[in-house]
Amino acid sequence: MHSWQMTAAGKPLQLKEGPLPSPGPGEVLLKVRACGLCHTDVGYLYGGVRPNAPLPLTLGHEIVGDAIAAGKGAEDMVGKTFIVPSVMPCGDCDLCNRGRGNICRAQKMPGNDFEGGFASHFVAPARFLCPVPKGTRDVEDLAIVADAVSTAYQAVARAGAEYGSMVVVVGAGGVGTFAAQSAKASGAHVAAIDVDPVRLSALGKYADVTLNAKELDQKAIRQAVTAYEKEHRLPAYGRIVLECSGTTGGQETAYALLTYDGKLAVVGFTLDKVSVRLSNLMAFDATAFGNWGCLPDHFPAILKLIEEGRIELKPFLERHPMSRLNDLLREHGHARRPVLIPDFEG
Ligand SMILES: [Zn+2]
Ligand SMILES: [Zn+2]
Repeated sequence: MHSWQMTAAGKPLQLKEGPLPSPGPGEVLLKVRACGLCHTDVGYLYGGVRPNAPLPLTLGHEIVGDAIAAGKGAEDMVGKTFIVPSVMPCGDCDLCNRGRGNICRAQKMPGNDFEGGFASHFVAPARFLCPVPKGTRDVEDLAIVADAVSTAYQAVARAGAEYGSMVVVVGAGGVGTFAAQSAKASGAHVAAIDVDPVRLSALGKYADVTLNAKELDQKAIRQAVTAYEKEHRLPAYGRIVLECSGTTGGQETAYALLTYDGKLAVVGFTLDKVSVRLSNLMAFDATAFGNWGCLPDHFPAILKLIEEGRIELKPFLERHPMSRLNDLLREHGHARRPVLIPDFEG
């Protein structure tokens, strides 16, 4: 097999060749069809974030592939296609039993806890793989369901977005675009905020209102969202704000948009700190929560929304040969999520 391995922070990934791994009991061997490139991968390589597993390590946690071999107990999976959830719970601990498997302390993430998907082949526990129905078109595009789409979906679901809700998405990047789509699919009104006008216009029908944070200060953004709510006779409370930018500027803007009974979901990640008046939560009787990944249980519902065309992938991703991986890791702020297709020789 071939794989692109991280050998040291700040260094390009190295192409390695090795024997085909054999799946153990309860594991399957996937031939990788595609692997999405996440901001987290850039964080490992160039952002000072350390993967859990020792180096060298194959990165990549947005994987879709065909099962070509399986260990004991997973034999019936061979010949089928699967999406690999980026958060793989153990399924047996107390948190898992409470329906909080996305924060299972024994969870495994490909390309972080074990060898990931920037490779020709990939071995994974079989238990939580999400089967892709036969006859599904553009299977490669489904790679990004593993993290970008599902993480956004879970945050929107947990925030309780529903018909008539006002949802503000801060950061229209890889996760934010799918947060906007998930919110729209729930029947909510959507406002999107970003510093990049290209990203904002790419949202098209999935945002009722787009606001450029390069042109508008925090106050002007707040006024614009409130004006939209008034115009559409939405209540002045209960606003849902999804922080997907993973920047301090975005986090400050998101916090400033809280209303009475508002909900703030922190979906993006940064190591940097912000200064906010936490007592606003108390004064507004508002809720702030973090969202880590997505429970594998949500995946079938997400696939259904994609199948129905209520979540679109193609306009928000671009396919590249996997040999371009190092270039893509160096370029920052992709307007569309890169999906890498294995193109190893031999
Ligand atoms: Zn990710
Ligand atoms: Zn568990």
